[in-house]
Amino acid sequence: MKSIVLIPFGPVPPEVLDALEVGLWQEFGFGVRRGEALPDPAYAFDQHANQYSSAMMLKDLLRRVPSDAVRVLGVTERDLFIPMLSFVFGHAQVNGPAAVISLARLRQEFYRLPPNPPLFLRRVMKEAVHELGHTFGLVHCADTRCAMSLSNAIQHVDTKTEELCPSCTILFQDSVHQIRQHSGEEH
Ligand SMILES: [Zn+2]
Ligand SMILES: [Zn+2]
Repeated sequence: MKSIVLIPFGPVPPEVLDALEVGLWQEFGFGVRRGEALPDPAYAFDQHANQYSSAMMLKDLLRRVPSDAVRVLGVTERDLFIPMLSFVFGHAQVNGPAAVISLARLRQEFYRLPPNPPLFLRRVMKEAVHELGHTFGLVHCADTRCAMSLSNAIQHVDTKTEELCPSCTILFQDSVHQIRQHSGEEH
């Protein structure tokens, strides 16, 4: 069975990858493994925004999807943006093989608050489930507890959970069923 492959862009704390390995397996039921780390994505730096282009990083990831990957999740410390939005916590190709999340705005320190590592890791999980959810065809959900609810501020990230609501879970299972049929894994 194919795996979700984690690909760090530049240095990423090992505890983040450890938490994602366990949490994504629990949420999605796919094995999770670490891919080869990529160098810091200097090519995606935008001088005007003083941030990194998530679209360029996604493009890079799309060229590097390993054959055993059902999905790849890029993880970076770099602050990401897309044109017209001042920042994004992450970016995904809907129904595509790749997504990327940024750790930059998930730490309390970013908001000049004392560090809170457990809160940070919960936020990382929520954003990872959200972006991977898009790659499985899920769209934004009106249930504010659902991981697929839209977050454009850290308060929204803290309101939602790292779990999919019942209706998003059904859509996710349909999507997995189709993926397995296409890859000949369904019996
Ligand atoms: Zn989204
Ligand atoms: Zn939902």
